[in-house]
Amino acid sequence: MIADNLLKIEQDIQDSCALVHRNPKEVTLVAVTKSVDSDKAEELIKAGVNNCAENRVDKLLQKKQDLQNHPDIKWHLIGNLQRRKVKLIVNEIDYFHALDSLRLAEEIQKRAEKQLACFVEVNVSGEESKQGISPDELLPFLESLASLTKIKVVGLMTMAPKDASADQIRKVFGTLKELRDLVQKKELPHAPCTELSMGMSQDFQLAIEEGATFIRVGTALFKDEEEQ
Ligand SMILES: *Cc1c(COP(=O)(O)O)cnc(C)c1O
Repeated sequence: MIADNLLKIEQDIQDSCALVHRNPKEVTLVAVTKSVDSDKAEELIKAGVNNCAENRVDKLLQKKQDLQNHPDIKWHLIGNLQRRKVKLIVNEIDYFHALDSLRLAEEIQKRAEKQLACFVEVNVSGEESKQGISPDELLPFLESLASLTKIKVVGLMTMAPKDASADQIRKVFGTLKELRDLVQKKELPHAPCTELSMGMSQDFQLAIEEGATFIRVGTALFKDEEEQ
């Protein structure tokens, strides 16, 4: 049951926070609904979730429309965004988690009616297949965004490497936190960079221990449904 899965995850969040003396209120559960239909997503909303994420523009727009009787939901786009789709989505979402190029940022600047909360995606693990800015390029990239008034860099986002050990994953998350702290110290007006979007079903507990403030959880919320 979805409601039971949610309860368990909320308990896990509390346990991980307790382990490192963090306040669970600092951690926002973003429910990734990409693998389920709108009815299942609504079940989750009724159970108390108020942040939903999709990784594709068309799917997010569809779900948002299907769930328009829940206007308080915050919508997160977590997947990579093609420039030609920016105009369709940019005024429909509350957060964008995968900003990784200046050209994309410029398109957002052109199309957004108000400032958009963005996470810059960082490829901490350095895997070739991964999206994201390399850690070396992060500060110059952030500086290049300074004149784009519609972009507010609220934080950094990363994905842990696949099939990595807990230690390796922890290291990736820890590095993202160090980068976040470094950026925060710069006190860039357009990049307060207080947040860390990291951790998915397999590794959100590690992510919380390493400082995550937004965790993006899909499979673990819908487990039994998928096994049926
Ligand atoms: C699918 C997805 C998630 C959620 O993954 P689960 O393993 O299902 O929890 C999180 N972040 C991104 C970017 C995704 O694409």
